[in-house]
Amino acid sequence: MKQQVLFYSFLFLASFVTSCTNDSTACEEWIINCEDTGIQVDTSKSNRKVLIIGIDGVRSEAMTEDISPFLYEFSNRPTTYFTDRNLVERLTFSGPNWSSLLTGVHFCKHKVFDNKYSNNELSVFPHFFNYIERANSSIVTASIVNWIPINQYSAIAHADHAPTNQITDQEVFEQAQELLQNQTPIDPDVLFLHFDELDGAGHEFGYHPDVTEYANTLNTIDGYIQQIVATIETKRSNGEDWIIFVVSDHGGDGKGHGGGFDNEHIKYTIFYANHPTESFIQNHTSTQVDLVPSVLYFMGIISDEFNCKKDGISIML
Ligand SMILES: [Zn+2]
Repeated sequence: MKQQVLFYSFLFLASFVTSCTNDSTACEEWIINCEDTGIQVDTSKSNRKVLIIGIDGVRSEAMTEDISPFLYEFSNRPTTYFTDRNLVERLTFSGPNWSSLLTGVHFCKHKVFDNKYSNNELSVFPHFFNYIERANSSIVTASIVNWIPINQYSAIAHADHAPTNQITDQEVFEQAQELLQNQTPIDPDVLFLHFDELDGAGHEFGYHPDVTEYANTLNTIDGYIQQIVATIETKRSNGEDWIIFVVSDHGGDGKGHGGGFDNEHIKYTIFYANHPTESFIQNHTSTQVDLVPSVLYFMGIISDEFNCKKDGISIML
């Protein structure tokens, strides 16, 4: 395996990092030469299935027994890896964080610096569906999102099903249940969901457990997730081997989250993984780039190219 990572740092950069106000210019320049494109698949894991539930803008401390009783209980299960200190990207916007969650690399590589996705490097550091489809194109991948840039700029190029029409959180929930229960319009093996209305409530009313609108929105999403997880539990009892992740892109404080990496209410958010038998690593607090290595590990997909490019680690050994 040839893994050559050439790292150029310019002498002026050190002073630039502390003085500049636009974080994107503080990125080191990476020239990455990952020539090996081999993908091995552990066939003993080839029936494994993945559900990732994304909730935009989760301030960790809002996830309480009163506000989100299901997620609270889910976090306490012995079969769940959970942290409320998952570290977000230094650029605390949605675009950079969803991109890091879905590519397994930090924003300096995928170069999604904001929510416009302009001049990004997602063709070099693709959405993880790319590696799954190359490993086995018969695996069915789907992405259902309220915030459509995720599908528009990232998922659609690789997914079997990634609609780009604007839908509500309730429609995300309904479409998820249609996919999982009725295989309509397809029967997903790997499903990503994105709920956006909590972030909307945070921007309009404030990101805080004491803000009624924020708490009520999280309570509604909690109910959706409870029903979706119940669907997965039924599938598990029918012999399907599913792992469930619950992730978020950033927290929030006041009515915002941009430029908030020095604020603990913004830079930490939740990260869950749940599986009946997998053991999760101890003494590791996840970051956004750990999701994809964990998914590929669980599915038994070993991509030399991804392993050369990735920044995160699997939370399973
Ligand atoms: Zn966001």
